[in-house]
Amino acid sequence: MTATYWGPFAALATDAGARVEELEPFSGLAAELYDELSIKDWDEAQYLALAARSAGPILELGCGTGRISLRLAEAGHELLGLDRSEAMLAVLRARLQVAAPEVRRRVRLVCADATDFELGERFALILLPYLTLGLIAGRDAQLAVLRAAARHLADDGVFAFDFLTVVDGDAAELGGEVLERTFSLHGQAVHARFGTRYLADQRALSVNTWFGLGGHEARGYLMALREEVFEPGEIEELLERAGLVVARRHGELAAGTATRRTLIECRRRAHHAHPLWQPYHPMAGVGVPPLTLVAGEGCEVRDDAGRRYLDASGGLWSVQCGLGRAEIVQAVTRQLERLSYATLFLGRASDTALELARQLVELAPAPLEWVYLTGSGSESTELAMKLARSACALRGQAHKQGILYLDASYHGTFFGSVGVSGLVPERAVFDPQLPGLGSVPTPLPENCPPGVTFEDYALGFAAKLETMLEHAGHRVAALLLEPVLGAAGVVALPASYLRRVARACRRHQVLLVVDEVATGFGRTGRWFASEHAELRPDVMLLGKGINSGYLPLGAVLFSAELGEQLGAAGHALVHGSTHNGNPAACAAALATFEVLRRDGLIERSARLGEWLLARLGELAGRPGLGPVRGRGLFTFVGLREEGGQPASERAVLGVLRALQERGVLVYPTRGGVMLAPALTITERELEQVVRALEAVLAAHRLVDGEAARR
Ligand code: PLP
Repeated sequence: MTATYWGPFAALATDAGARVEELEPFSGLAAELYDELSIKDWDEAQYLALAARSAGPILELGCGTGRISLRLAEAGHELLGLDRSEAMLAVLRARLQVAAPEVRRRVRLVCADATDFELGERFALILLPYLTLGLIAGRDAQLAVLRAAARHLADDGVFAFDFLTVVDGDAAELGGEVLERTFSLHGQAVHARFGTRYLADQRALSVNTWFGLGGHEARGYLMALREEVFEPGEIEELLERAGLVVARRHGELAAGTATRRTLIECRRRAHHAHPLWQPYHPMAGVGVPPLTLVAGEGCEVRDDAGRRYLDASGGLWSVQCGLGRAEIVQAVTRQLERLSYATLFLGRASDTALELARQLVELAPAPLEWVYLTGSGSESTELAMKLARSACALRGQAHKQGILYLDASYHGTFFGSVGVSGLVPERAVFDPQLPGLGSVPTPLPENCPPGVTFEDYALGFAAKLETMLEHAGHRVAALLLEPVLGAAGVVALPASYLRRVARACRRHQVLLVVDEVATGFGRTGRWFASEHAELRPDVMLLGKGINSGYLPLGAVLFSAELGEQLGAAGHALVHGSTHNGNPAACAAALATFEVLRRDGLIERSARLGEWLLARLGELAGRPGLGPVRGRGLFTFVGLREEGGQPASERAVLGVLRALQERGVLVYPTRGGVMLAPALTITERELEQVVRALEAVLAAHRLVDGEAARR
């Protein structure tokens, strides 16, 4: 398909007759005139920025007369320019002759076709600028260029090029854009008209240029180019065939042409050795191998290199009965053999899910008597928020939509639950959160003034919350709280605080939602932490230890009254997920309860927790050690820097790594580490953890935000 002249250019082509010469698009003169037209600043800045980020030599495909090549070489980059036009390269060579010697030395030139070349070397950055791909006619040729680029790309190299896509369905209606410029070339005045017009039938941009030399239009050159405009998705398909993937894209609308110009950065499709994206983990170091566990028993895990670790974090504070517990494994196996799946939708259930619901109600404090089985702690939080709002709406209080949470809380990372997790400031990246969420200040031991008991300090917060509810309680549906804040560093809220808050909630018809995802099932030395304060929550959230973390499972327990409200309205609860009440996960929970009871693990958690606190207390005053606190086998070990301030995140991670090197796994948190091992852990194993901690603190100085070896 040939390029077309249109509008003013068509008139020039037909009227001007002999005065007009058709210019060969890839000739040296055309390129020089084009360069002077200076319409490409956008690319130049982009390509210079790319080069600044890349390490190693650059290959520029279709380097032409070297407009970009020269800029790159002047900026200090080594470059190989490739072009199929000897005429263009001749212009570039001439330009290099007058460039500074060091610039000249940085540039090598090769005359070859971009569809078929073999240089025998690989590049950190390959550029194909100025919409060149769209000037290459035919898919096969375009693909050949991409393949050749891919072949010459270093392992983590970047291949960048730009192209046009259609953005406007009515593109055919556009009349075309004409731009006029005057400049001088080799001392001669040039008057230029440059125009672009989208030709919908050809899916191409027709680019027409008129150059009038000598200050008047006595001698003119007319040139037409045809630039292919790609349909969205076409480029990605080509890249895939060339073994490339898009890493980044930068776009700008090409004004008046109904096309978008995109500069794309691609890489060779990687086959990462560790393509597993890890939750809540900065993946800047993609490719850093995770600690890969392959086996575990009790509190011990083994990695893929055969190293053994004592897991004092109990997985994610979840492995109540230890790993590989035969009773649980067998219960799950039997369940899978008997009934491997049953949904809770459609009015169906499994006998195992029903039995679990019955047992949970038996265990839980009054007035809880309904059980909804979820797949995780986060899902439990989501459901509780929905329950609270729907209960208010159903009892005619639709204005009660507010959900309050403590600002140092953690309730999960789903969209609702992250919005009530004050400890996750990073959530702002996907703001706005759900409307109607509001935080209240958390009493934290680190902020408690000297000479004031934590209980008195906390009661001050309860009083403020009371006042707040006096004013705003009519708009609040629920208050969520962890009776022992986990991620905030094992902060047991005083019983008097919890009771006062609970009373205030009742007074203002605010549902008290107690999050026992981390604290349930013996973690704090009782079945539920609510028992320490004799709390009677309206809703209780469960997860983690419910089945010793063997399979995904959580639960929301709610009160008789809530059940009445939801039931009486005849509404279905709008919540449900395929694995709610998964029978194998439920079987693991029932077996867990049995082990917890039979082995007295809950009492053991209380007893060993006391022992551990006393033992850590013996280390008081050691450099690096901060406050230590806990309840049951849920323990916070504070770390302090030499200046006395809580250890920075980096310092905490340094300690964590040093402990890992000594074969002990702990959980990092704000200003310290947490221990939440299986409740089956022995005194001897706990002693091993304490000794490792002692040794790590002796070997490191926590200073300047780092854990530095002494
Ligand atoms: N609530 C609390 C108190 C938690 O500690 C956690 C997890 O750490 C969650 C909710 C979220 O549970 P999950 O990670 O199972 O979604």
